[in-house]
Amino acid sequence: MMNRRKFFRNGSLFTLGTAFISPFQATAAPITTDFIDKNKKAKNIILLVSDGMSTGTLNMADLYLNRKNGVGSNWLQLYKDNRVSRALMDTASASSIVTDSAAASSSWGGGFRVKNGSLNVGPNGEEHLPIWQKFKKAGKMAGCVTTVPITHATPAGFCVNSKSRNGQAEIAEQYLEQGFDIMMGGGQKYFDAEFRKDKKDMYAAFKAKGYQVAKTRSEMMSTSNDKPVLGVFDEDALPYSIDRNSDEKLKENIPSLAEMAQKAIDRMKNHPNGFVLQVEAGKVDWAAHGNDIGGLIYDQVAFDEAVKVAIDFAEKDKNTLVIITTDHGNANPGVIYGKYANDNFDNIQKYKHTNEWLLNNIHPTSTLSQIKEVVDFSNGSSLSDDDAKAVLSYYDGLHKEEGGLYNYKKLPFKAFAEMQQKTNSVGWISMDHSADYVELAVFGPGSQFLKPFIKNTDLHYLMLQAAEVENKF
Ligand SMILES: [Zn+2]
Repeated sequence: MMNRRKFFRNGSLFTLGTAFISPFQATAAPITTDFIDKNKKAKNIILLVSDGMSTGTLNMADLYLNRKNGVGSNWLQLYKDNRVSRALMDTASASSIVTDSAAASSSWGGGFRVKNGSLNVGPNGEEHLPIWQKFKKAGKMAGCVTTVPITHATPAGFCVNSKSRNGQAEIAEQYLEQGFDIMMGGGQKYFDAEFRKDKKDMYAAFKAKGYQVAKTRSEMMSTSNDKPVLGVFDEDALPYSIDRNSDEKLKENIPSLAEMAQKAIDRMKNHPNGFVLQVEAGKVDWAAHGNDIGGLIYDQVAFDEAVKVAIDFAEKDKNTLVIITTDHGNANPGVIYGKYANDNFDNIQKYKHTNEWLLNNIHPTSTLSQIKEVVDFSNGSSLSDDDAKAVLSYYDGLHKEEGGLYNYKKLPFKAFAEMQQKTNSVGWISMDHSADYVELAVFGPGSQFLKPFIKNTDLHYLMLQAAEVENKF
């Protein structure tokens, strides 16, 4: 009885109290977005996409940074500080619950799901106007930056219509025709007359239309912000971040994703009608296809640095909607339980190169000790004789070979990742895309429109709604 009465007394005190503070509010960090009026129109939009980023990739990059520096990723810091709206997103295409990047980008870019492989072209040939063209028509500037060819599926899905994502040489011509304000990444193959089947010099064509063409990091840095920019920094994709970080020449010649994002913002930020920008970490997907943990984590970290560039700008600007997400999962990696899981995972901090770099430095004539030396140099941990022998058996061109997307040289990525698991505790479910619902975070004006579970196509309409651009084209 006594306890019960006490309970009621406390209860009534509680309800009569003038200052009701919920335990959640009391412990929440200060919310900086309070200074940004979410309900106003978004003048600018920056969409950041880590291509093929399984949730495990986001988690591992945060764990990696936390254990190395005591501070996690910028992306998850936005969650910890309660500064974003957040959702899970269903990434299916018209043809499969497992999308490819062309259909995924088309669902955001065109507002309709299309079949895997096509860019904003429906099953009966119907074309959906790509969103960066809609924003251009509404008077905004528009651009894309990426670590893969700029003509690749994810930027292309915001910019053009094409029956096939493979028509990259033709996609380069469509970019010129549309006159986007800044386009940067890799893909010299699709611009250089030497490489193109039709021998067209796309660089000359862009210059004739008033573009500044940059082929190195320093050329990019010295472009002026009052003219459009085409930046093409490698023959195909740009090098992985971890390989770039270990190579002074690459660091000098190739810009990071964060540097490209900063340049694109600087180029477009003074436009009176605002701008839209896509920033893609395209090689997070390629690393997942190769079960290449060094490629994966360090490119996700490089993506996270671009997230900071976008958020820093949006905080100052207060009129910018920032969307941070991925187009689909890939290979669903994760750290696996075990006695040495912590130390093993921390071994990744010692990695100097990707498995791609490492496996390309093994040759049919390599000795076992040479193989072990390459692994030791690249990973900071050694390989057993048996494992070195097993790796070498893929190089004689007779016995075994691996296939897989982006594995043109048929290197033993899967076999090596399985050996590496003994010293890094990272496992993978496959070497391809997954149907997982993916993480989506939205910051700034327009973020109030995000519901906790959306379809990829919903994002198309959210961008138009936030910017108050009518879907009338
Ligand atoms: Zn992929």
